[in-house]
Amino acid sequence: MPIQCTIVPVTPYQQNCSIIKCETTGKAAIVDPGGDEERILVAVEQMEASVEKIILTHAHLDHCAASDVLRRQLLVPIEGPHCDDEFWLQGLPKACEMSGFPPASSFTPDRWLVQGDRVTVGEQTLQVIHCPGHTPGHIVFLYEPQKVAWVGDVLFQGSIGRTDFPRGNQEDLIASIREKLFPLGDDITFIPGHGPTSTFGHERETNPFVADSRYG
Ligand SMILES: [Zn+2]
Ligand SMILES: [Zn+2]
Repeated sequence: MPIQCTIVPVTPYQQNCSIIKCETTGKAAIVDPGGDEERILVAVEQMEASVEKIILTHAHLDHCAASDVLRRQLLVPIEGPHCDDEFWLQGLPKACEMSGFPPASSFTPDRWLVQGDRVTVGEQTLQVIHCPGHTPGHIVFLYEPQKVAWVGDVLFQGSIGRTDFPRGNQEDLIASIREKLFPLGDDITFIPGHGPTSTFGHERETNPFVADSRYG
């Protein structure tokens, strides 16, 4: 397999931080480091990976609060999310304070991402899919060769992301899932921001919010 992936649940929200390693080069990306950076770095070491970047699906605290600390420590860039999540990044210090997270400053990614962008990890390439709804700047990373996607809080096994946040929109979220993710194929395995992995095919059949039977 060209990439190896380790999931490290972080923060009191048990957010699935992933480490994606290119097997050819040993280079790796950390996806959504929301906290517990020491545990993430232990997993990186166990994988014998060399981190070259941090990539973010969206700017909620449980997904990004440790990004800037890791950027400074590892001297690597942050890529993503889409710039429509900038207001969440600006509000990060306050969000951390209110949720009892360790203090985090607001930060700006080195690269904002848009629909159709490509993100490299070593010699491997991830595709960027803009999936607004849970947050306006939410993106999904797809690694086509292994049929795997990191979907953050867009879709879960049996559920979908919350949309009761500022600038959340349930119609947009369902359109993102049904029109942008499901056409990628039933055989795509996805790693959600929380909880167990599933496949798009399984959710098309069984997910009460987005199943085909609901939309005919
Ligand atoms: Zn979220
Ligand atoms: Zn989350």
